[in-house]
Amino acid sequence: MSHSDFDRTIVHAEAAIAQFKANRTPAYPANYELWYTYSCGFNRALNKVINDLLREYGTVTPGEVQRIHDEFLSPTRLTNRVEEVGSAVGGEINEISALLDGALDSAGDYSDALATAAEELKSESGDVNLTAIVKSLINATQEMQESNSDLKMKLGESKAQIEELQENIEAIRFQSLTDELTGIANRKCFDQAFAAALTSAEREGGSVSLLLGDIDRFKAFNDTHGHQTGDQVLRLVGQVLKSNIKGADLAARYGGEEFAVVLPQTGLEQAQSVAEHLRNAVRNKELVKRSTGENLGRVTMSIGVVANIPGDTVDSMIHRADICLYAAKGAGRDCVKTQNDPGIDKLSDVA
Ligand code: GH3
Ligand code: MG
Ligand code: MG
Repeated sequence: MSHSDFDRTIVHAEAAIAQFKANRTPAYPANYELWYTYSCGFNRALNKVINDLLREYGTVTPGEVQRIHDEFLSPTRLTNRVEEVGSAVGGEINEISALLDGALDSAGDYSDALATAAEELKSESGDVNLTAIVKSLINATQEMQESNSDLKMKLGESKAQIEELQENIEAIRFQSLTDELTGIANRKCFDQAFAAALTSAEREGGSVSLLLGDIDRFKAFNDTHGHQTGDQVLRLVGQVLKSNIKGADLAARYGGEEFAVVLPQTGLEQAQSVAEHLRNAVRNKELVKRSTGENLGRVTMSIGVVANIPGDTVDSMIHRADICLYAAKGAGRDCVKTQNDPGIDKLSDVA
């Protein structure tokens, strides 16, 4: 850990401790994580909730701290939300089936009333009271109509609720596949998309290519300009990658300052030219600090490029891409290396 990492984290730690005291928050590890994250400032949604509370009440109670932690930081937060939505769907289905039971009951009553009327009409005694029969039929029909329109209305309400729940599920799914910092696809999304692209390439006897990119000397950038500015650069690089690919291509944050791009139905040569294009797009971005207008120069990216060969798996391709990326770093950075470049084979024997 460098000096600046040390200084930066100590500053956030001290700010977190100050928040413990000001808000009389018990100093549990989970609460520390919350105040530390707040002090770093890059979880904007979390900071907004806390700032709103501070603005309104001056402090955040331990109960609220717990709730905010559960909502924004707890590793089970998505699972909890999925469970909430799941039980809401279950409740809605129970209600509908109770409604349908009721409707079946009243349909049964109606057919009983019809049967009774038919019996009475068949009566051979001759003193059939037509008025009474017609009245009872009218009553039964009215009841049936009322219960039908009730059912229709309630089913309409349930339909609207189910649609809202579906939207919720879709939002959670989207969130679970998105990288919070950069807003592009996350590692989980990459894993799924890459596995699917490789499977379909194998089935169709086609190609799939993979790019692994890593920002050059990013540690030094952070040390010079601060971690928060570094975060903004990661966001920018994510957006540059995303906006310079098209169709079924997927750009994802692979981890830290590493990005992956999946190119379905793309061979090595074409993938190499996409990689060159992306490398140039990144290095051509002039970085300007919004708050001060300060020019921060540029960042560059090294990229490893591979395309599937017979017998490849997800892991073997990632491993080979990593070797190419390593070769690009070794060749001086800000460049692209592919599995066909001289020397890559030798490296892969060693790895
Ligand atoms: P190289 O050219 O060899 O890739 O050098 P490097 O400094 O980029 O590589 P190294 O692996 O030594 O350091 C990666 C740095 O990326 C460490 C850390 O400062 C930075 N980093 C990783 N994740 C994040 C993040 O989420 N936010 C910020 N701001 N920086 C990050
Ligand atoms: Mg790295
Ligand atoms: Mg790097």
